[in-house]
Amino acid sequence: MMWSALTDGTRRFLGGNGDWSGAAREAAQCVGFLEDVEDELVADETRSCYNCRYRRWTESSFICLRPGG
Ligand code: SF4
Repeated sequence: MMWSALTDGTRRFLGGNGDWSGAAREAAQCVGFLEDVEDELVADETRSCYNCRYRRWTESSFICLRPGG
């Protein structure tokens, strides 16, 4: 389980900000992936939660803001 559900309906990625393979795996399984603008891309794998427009960085990880994940 890679996510922690938050009370506002969003969810926090439990892999932190350095689980590159985990973030790529999650995005590969997600129908909602939307590539962010070029300046915001951080992962080599294009399809990664770390490169997704729906992620909002926190201090140690990110939150997925897409409704329903
Ligand atoms: S950040 Fe959210 S919407 Fe984007 S690929 Fe990951 S799980 Fe899907």
